Amino acid sequence: MNNYMKLEIPALSENEPFARSAVAAFCVSLNPSMDELSDVKTAVSEAVTNCIVHAYSGGEGAIKIECEIEDDTLHIQISDTGKGIEDVAQAIEPFFSTRSDEERSGMGFTIMQTFMTSFCVTSEPGKGTSVRMSKRFGAGTAKSQGGLADAQ
Ligand code: ATP
Ligand code: MG
Repeated sequence: MNNYMKLEIPALSENEPFARSAVAAFCVSLNPSMDELSDVKTAVSEAVTNCIVHAYSGGEGAIKIECEIEDDTLHIQISDTGKGIEDVAQAIEPFFSTRSDEERSGMGFTIMQTFMTSFCVTSEPGKGTSVRMSKRFGAGTAKSQGGLADAQ
């Protein structure tokens, strides 16, 4: 059986660092490099922030985080039951933001796409959004080089 974990947290900004650290801790068995770990944490942080800021617009709601390890790959699904996205293709374009008036740069989805091996968003207006991402660890390098477990 593949290892997995499921986490549900309220959409509070103080839970964003918790979420990224929890996912990072879960994937330590894959012996990630510092760069790989940092990529995963950044992608999780962007997805969770989007749930807090956009899905629930700072109000109440739940964020579900599900992770599964399959061989040398970590699969992550981050979902909300918030307002959803009308046009996903437009939302994932670099620099597109419905909150460009604030400090949003419209780069969250682009960052997730760049830092992860695969990425996909499904959404239904009024129902919620799910972001699925995978990261293959040790891609391009010998797995035994530079992994955190080796440093211990
Ligand atoms: P940044 O992430 O750079 O601060 P941003 O959040 O606006 O800016 P993206 O993360 O790329 O940029 O998201 C693009 C747009 O997609 C958002 O402006 C928002 O309209 C929509 N969006 C993203 N995630 C969600 C979500 N979970 N629920 C509803 N809308 C979302
Ligand atoms: Mg964002």
